[in-house]
Amino acid sequence: MEYGFVDCHCHISAREFEEDLEDVIQRTREAGVKTLVAVTEEAREFDRVLQLQERYPDLVAPCFGIHPLQGGEGPTQRSVKPQELDAALPQFFKHRERLVAIGEIGLDFTPWCAPTQQDRDGQMDVFIKQLNIAKELDLPVNVHSRSAAKVVIATMREQGVSRALLHNFAGKPAVALEGVKAGFLFSFPPAVCRNQQRDKLIKQIPLEHICLETDSPALGLDKHVRNEPCNIVLSCRYIADVKGLSSQTVQLITAQNARRLFPKVDAHLQYTCF
Ligand SMILES: [Zn+2]
Repeated sequence: MEYGFVDCHCHISAREFEEDLEDVIQRTREAGVKTLVAVTEEAREFDRVLQLQERYPDLVAPCFGIHPLQGGEGPTQRSVKPQELDAALPQFFKHRERLVAIGEIGLDFTPWCAPTQQDRDGQMDVFIKQLNIAKELDLPVNVHSRSAAKVVIATMREQGVSRALLHNFAGKPAVALEGVKAGFLFSFPPAVCRNQQRDKLIKQIPLEHICLETDSPALGLDKHVRNEPCNIVLSCRYIADVKGLSSQTVQLITAQNARRLFPKVDAHLQYTCF
């Protein structure tokens, strides 16, 4: 049985894929991945993700978003500033027809990335503005939360957001279940296979609220090796094992969930059995 995978959160426009993109895409297709929901972190990536959609129209489904952390990886990483979103705003509206979601957006209150109240306020401002763009454009959101699970869920509920994917969620199960109640979905990358830390969470979230993702090029099985969309099979198998289900069931239900959450992706997908 072949239902195909939907990678609900990956960074295919990242520099890490520039050199051998054709090979990466080939492995993606060979693994049975039918759609890449391609998130962005900053405005300078927007053109690239649109170009990739033109190059692989049956595969790449673009999202625009300004990430809560800017300035690259490592010690240069810092909280986003409201003016960084302001500069990108016209782009969201100009390309609205082509977007399947707004993301990657969210909150990251890791102490060294958001040391001051001003940092956290700036992130919140940018997050809420993008939630409102999503509502205005009638799009779902693709959301990052780190050290901020509770506040992310509460903020989305306050803002009346009902269609959301919480990617690589690592909050407490009780907090996740608040999100389930609000109708949110949760996706898990291959990094969950590194240890059993997320088992309790995966067990408690109903399968109807789970999607698959890779977050490529990050969050692979091995921290130091570039992750690729073809590794989605690892998340699928792991979730199946934790839940005591078959991989086929997890593949089918998560693909259906993704279709429900990102209805504009549907046009790209060529499901063989639905
Ligand atoms: Zn990401």
